[in-house]
Amino acid sequence: MIHMKDVYKTYNNGVSALNGININIDRGEFVYIVGPSGAGKSTFIRLIFREVKPTKGTVYVNEMNVNELKEKQVPLLRRNVGVVYQDFKLLSKLTVYENVAFAMEVIESHPSLIRTRVMEVLDLVGLKNKARFLPHELSGGEQQRVSIARAIVNYPKIVIADEPTGNLDPDTSWGIMKVLQEINDRGTTVIMATHSKEIVNTFKNRVVAIEDGLIVRDEHRGEYGYEG
Ligand code: ADP
Ligand code: ADP
Repeated sequence: MIHMKDVYKTYNNGVSALNGININIDRGEFVYIVGPSGAGKSTFIRLIFREVKPTKGTVYVNEMNVNELKEKQVPLLRRNVGVVYQDFKLLSKLTVYENVAFAMEVIESHPSLIRTRVMEVLDLVGLKNKARFLPHELSGGEQQRVSIARAIVNYPKIVIADEPTGNLDPDTSWGIMKVLQEINDRGTTVIMATHSKEIVNTFKNRVVAIEDGLIVRDEHRGEYGYEG
């Protein structure tokens, strides 16, 4: 599903964020990306939906060679990759319903499908009764649920989450993890960068540790491995 071979990323300012990454991630896996700040976790994650391009090496996502995609093919890649951010990135003037529906309108889904599907994903994340609310009327955990609903509404094969619980308290984070685990149980591949020792050591999944732009550990049902 995701395959990286000898991937390097050097930013324009000369910083080398990734220094030879090799990894395979199969369909249906749940993978945590852990490591110190500045290790290259976000860069790794952003390669998968081509928010950054590798300087060297190859990245395959869903059988597409991400390096060779033409600009007009990038939306096709992104349809298969739902993205969840630490700061939610909801559109503040749109309701919960509209934020999620917007992702379907962008890909020109049939209007009759939109209503059913949006309510279905809002139900999955436990927010059916808040469809008419605006983002600022919701708690942080609820806003993150909306962003998860938006990420999955178009049935992506992969969901990527960069520190999705980074702005949330532990109890709220737990609820978010249950939703992500449920999405994974239904067959979607989930890749999540996190600094939460509690989450990684409780919801056991594959753990990939990155330090100085290299994978230094890759364990099935692993531990966080750093001090909290
Ligand atoms: P992490 O997510 O593990 O904190 P990042 O991938 O964000 O690590 O960063 C890896 C390195 O690349 C850091 O030294 C960071 O400062 C640098 N970096 C990240 N994004 C950019 C950018 N857009 N331009 C220049 N340097 C960057
Ligand atoms: P732009 O990139 O010009 O802001 P888009 O139409 O790509 O506009 O995105 C509109 C909204 O949907 C943005 O808030 C963006 O963060 C979100 N979005 C776009 N693609 C995805 C995705 N694959 N998963 C989750 N949210 C997405």
